[in-house]
Amino acid sequence: MAKQDYYDVLGVSRDASDGEIKKAFRGLARELHPDVSEAPDAEARFREVAEAYEVLSDDDRRARYDRYGHEGVAGQGFHTERFMDMGFLDDLLGSLFGGGFGAPTGPEAGADAQSAVDIELAEALTGAHFDLDLELVSTCEVCEGDGAAPGSEVHTCEECDGAGQVRQIVRSPLGQLVRTMPCRKCGGRGRIPEKPCPDCRGRGRRPQRRKIGVDVPAGIDDGQALRLTGLGHAGELGAPAGDLYVRVHVKPDERFERDGLDLVGHLDLRLSEAVLGASRTVETLDGEEQVEIEAGLQPGTVIVLKGHGMPRLRGGSRGDLRLVANVQVPRALDDEQRKVVESFRELEDERNYAHPERSRGGLRDRFRRAFG
Ligand SMILES: [Zn+2]
Ligand SMILES: [Zn+2]
Repeated sequence: MAKQDYYDVLGVSRDASDGEIKKAFRGLARELHPDVSEAPDAEARFREVAEAYEVLSDDDRRARYDRYGHEGVAGQGFHTERFMDMGFLDDLLGSLFGGGFGAPTGPEAGADAQSAVDIELAEALTGAHFDLDLELVSTCEVCEGDGAAPGSEVHTCEECDGAGQVRQIVRSPLGQLVRTMPCRKCGGRGRIPEKPCPDCRGRGRRPQRRKIGVDVPAGIDDGQALRLTGLGHAGELGAPAGDLYVRVHVKPDERFERDGLDLVGHLDLRLSEAVLGASRTVETLDGEEQVEIEAGLQPGTVIVLKGHGMPRLRGGSRGDLRLVANVQVPRALDDEQRKVVESFRELEDERNYAHPERSRGGLRDRFRRAFG
């Protein structure tokens, strides 16, 4: 009997996507499972479907099949072990028999927890410590997590002999398979207390307020999250706790804006300072610094204070502080001041406004450069 085309077996087109092929296979596998199907040839068809899927789900083998047909993949028929390797078997049997197949059993691990802190930009520079007060599922202190009322006895579960899981043999087209399920009687714990703990109603865990110290590292940026391993919700007896994720919000600072590792700010200069030059005290995140303003400084000039930016998260050199000069034009002049400016008008000429900077881009370009 001639072998049927693999695409026809699965009922998909030759250009079907991996997803379509997987979906078609799952649907057919469910339909043809001998425990479900009444058809006498269900098992034979299931094997055909599995063989087709095994070839078409592998890019390499699918390409060979497309080129040479069945010859191209001959001698590489359906192998159960390969399904095992692919991890697909669990998935398949899960859809055939319902959930729980191959899934981890026993005490449940703790869930992850979330929190957030607001910090100032200056704290992002130095790092900061916070004590969070959180309500988390915690191990019950009364029973120390075993769920038994103090003084009451705990028996080993008879159903599972204390293993917390039971084994079940299931028949499948791939042969007999052992399926492991959590024990229903003890809920996967293997032990049953005679009298459940009144504080946690025998669950071994209960919500509690906990104080958790968090160190926010220097260099943290707005929106980044810290992961505190094992500080989330407690797991069931013996199972690991979840992690705690703390998202960090850096409050906007009215003086500086962050641009990667650099900080960008403004420096207001008086007209006389820009014209004559000056020595100015400027604010940085590290405190005050002295900068020399050269005579003839143009608006939009970027003054760079090396090493006054933000630190890298894992240490190392810091970015720079870039201050964009803003030259203020004096207003509300009195008569005497007006006279001085008027007499300057008489004296000024082209030379004063020759602009070596202009050929290297105007104000807007320089401003853009300040913001990277
Ligand atoms: Zn308890
Ligand atoms: Zn049990």
